[in-house]
Amino acid sequence: MAKTVGRLAPSPSGRMHPGNILAFLVAWLSARSVSGEVVLRIEDLDRVRCTPEWAEILKDDLTWLGITWDREAPPQRDRDSAFEEALDRLKDMGLVFPCWCTRGVLNASRAPHATDGHWIYPGNCRNLTPEERLAKKGLPSYRLIVPDREICFTDRLYGERRENLARECGDFVLKKADGSYAYQLAVVVDDIACGVTEVVRGCDLLGSVPRQIYLTELLGGKTPEYMHVPMLLGPGGRKLSKRDLDLDMGQLRARIRPQRMLGELAFRVGLIDSSREISAAELISEYSPEKLSKTDVELGNDFCGCLLA
Ligand code: GLU
Repeated sequence: MAKTVGRLAPSPSGRMHPGNILAFLVAWLSARSVSGEVVLRIEDLDRVRCTPEWAEILKDDLTWLGITWDREAPPQRDRDSAFEEALDRLKDMGLVFPCWCTRGVLNASRAPHATDGHWIYPGNCRNLTPEERLAKKGLPSYRLIVPDREICFTDRLYGERRENLARECGDFVLKKADGSYAYQLAVVVDDIACGVTEVVRGCDLLGSVPRQIYLTELLGGKTPEYMHVPMLLGPGGRKLSKRDLDLDMGQLRARIRPQRMLGELAFRVGLIDSSREISAAELISEYSPEKLSKTDVELGNDFCGCLLA
């Protein structure tokens, strides 16, 4: 059987919070528990929010946690030519069109919402004539034409899922009007280039899988296995955020040992049956995806108390 290749794909836009740590921990355990390889890839497509300084801090934080990697792929800020080449291939297949719709235009078109909250693209610019295109002002984004068929996959934790891309998502953006590449394109090009066989990450990205499977097929890659990890929520069920500095690694590292942090997290999501100090390496033998909670886990106010006690 082919060797498992997992990946850690952090966006260096701030210090990690417990939800990020959990997703990286499970991605790491999943690969390490089958003696697989782990690739680190810095996802810094957003050149304003992501910085090389944050990337260095992130790597240092992962190392402190004992979440190691075997090789590092080039950061996405150095991958423009690979993304452009993939875009050109898709253009050559006749599957890409320029789109001048702004958020305001899409709002006004009253297109329905997809499950993850974005607009289902209503097709405004799909069939413009060459003359109509020439008459447009400003730089376009580029969208991929999606098929009217269901894409099915089985997530290792959340089970069988399906989505009809044309009806539930619509033609989606590959390159933005500001010239930057969209996450969906970059992640697929890079996962293929890194030889990734399993994608393990937070379940906020579960809704992206059908788009990524479709792109992987078009670009001739092998579809990886997918597993999404439940979200950790703050007190009252609110989303944790790097911007709100929710229990970020800076605060945690100053006060506790990594084993304390990992043990508490592993306990909260069901990987171990009591809260105790445990290292990432010791968690490998405890790991089994069936143990993981399938629902989001709320960290009450007691979470900080437990950690810092
Ligand atoms: N870079 C994304 C993040 O930090 C993860 C993307 C992915 O795993 O596909 O949330």
